[in-house]
Amino acid sequence: MKARKPVCPYCNEPFDPSPFHPNQKVCLSPECQRRRRKDYHRQKITTDSEYRQVCADSRKKWRESNPDYQSRYRGRNEDYCQRNRQKQRVRNQKRRLSLIVKNNLAIDLKRLPAEVWMTGPGLDGIVKNNLAISQVLIFQTDGDSMEAI
Ligand SMILES: [Zn+2]
Repeated sequence: MKARKPVCPYCNEPFDPSPFHPNQKVCLSPECQRRRRKDYHRQKITTDSEYRQVCADSRKKWRESNPDYQSRYRGRNEDYCQRNRQKQRVRNQKRRLSLIVKNNLAIDLKRLPAEVWMTGPGLDGIVKNNLAISQVLIFQTDGDSMEAI
């Protein structure tokens, strides 16, 4: 009785393994082989520090031999530049807010009847990351309470 053909985990199609690789898990289609190599690379780079270093050195060498690639890429891809600037603005804002929080550690916020109001675009993502999209302004009132707006 003939054994069942293995099924490729990427395209879900049965395939004939190579006689030289009887334990082959992925079919030979270029797309499935590309995905297999990509998954291997991703897994290996997280578990093998030497492999990770070799990959980093390789990228560094490539950048050094193609020094104007990045500026040409930016010139061709305005959308990429816009998204990148927006993400950098969010990172800068997050860093500024974390500095404000650190500088206010001396205040015992638990004793203050504070309210926080958030405003800004993208409030639907607030559950994931409210520091990235909001600004916090802290005002001290003339009474003995403090409001955070
Ligand atoms: Zn396949």
